[in-house]
Amino acid sequence: MVVTGECRLNHTCEMCEYNNDTDCKADQNEHNRWLVNFRMNNIKYKIIVGSNKGGVGKSTVTTNLAVALAEKGFKVGLADADLHGPNVPKLVDADNVRLRSKDEGGIVPYETRNGLKVASLGFLIEDPNMHIAWRDAVKYDFIIELLGNIDWGELDYLLIDLPPGTGNEQITIIDFIGDVDGAIVVTTPQDLALLDARKMISFARDSNVPIVGIIENMSTLTCPHCEKEVDVFKQGGGKSLAEELVIPYLGSIPLDGEITRRSDSGEPVVLSRPDSIAAKAFMELAENTHKFLNPQETLKAG
Ligand code: ADP
Repeated sequence: MVVTGECRLNHTCEMCEYNNDTDCKADQNEHNRWLVNFRMNNIKYKIIVGSNKGGVGKSTVTTNLAVALAEKGFKVGLADADLHGPNVPKLVDADNVRLRSKDEGGIVPYETRNGLKVASLGFLIEDPNMHIAWRDAVKYDFIIELLGNIDWGELDYLLIDLPPGTGNEQITIIDFIGDVDGAIVVTTPQDLALLDARKMISFARDSNVPIVGIIENMSTLTCPHCEKEVDVFKQGGGKSLAEELVIPYLGSIPLDGEITRRSDSGEPVVLSRPDSIAAKAFMELAENTHKFLNPQETLKAG
């Protein structure tokens, strides 16, 4: 093996097959790939969730989808790869949690009360008000840390909340995982968001990642006073895009102030308001996602 760089992941050297007692002789790239592969081997489905655009509710949808899959009885992990806005800890009411390393190597993810395992940069930074201004090499190390050092154990699903865009971080994640099982694209209904969603779809296709489907978020608002439906960001754009590009449409999530409030207080609606239209829509999304990946299987009753 050609040694091209020094391994910097010292605390995982103990478990790495390249370990040579005291000196890690691994080529850094080889070491990283071994580590990521080691973790991903125990995960059935690795799914990226992206939107290309920020603010369309990608983290909110990913978190509720992960919670919904966990409620369906699956073992689920949620990797928050949005390193410039690592909001998932807040969405699961774990802002003050810090992750701990295991002596034998690896970091233990945070576990919610319904068994969802979560890892995020938000668990590692001291001051949540500080911006992240990292060069690509540091971002790369973080992604390896997230994919290779978190000890997820056995999972049915690992959902990876991608940062906005289709650049270095997204490419590195897909490259290191190697066999991403699917991409879920979150959009809002208006043309401006759809324009960016198209780029996410083209990126996934170009990267040979199967498209699980499109989710339309903030679809319609039911007026709390007159109960009329109001299309704040229009309606149906996600479905039309799915039809045009011949990809599955996974469903729509309403624009609902309760989602905003519950997200702010770290209580995903799926758990805190299970009878709401939004929670039911997320459960349906979970079902549609599972059906796409397991067309032959009947889903456990939710
Ligand atoms: P992104 O990850 O795409 O940047 P977020 O998930 O952080 O977006 O959501 C942005 C804001 O929109 C948050 O305040 C969140 O609570 C809110 N939000 C997301 N989806 C909905 C929805 N369907 N209804 C109401 N508010 C929503």
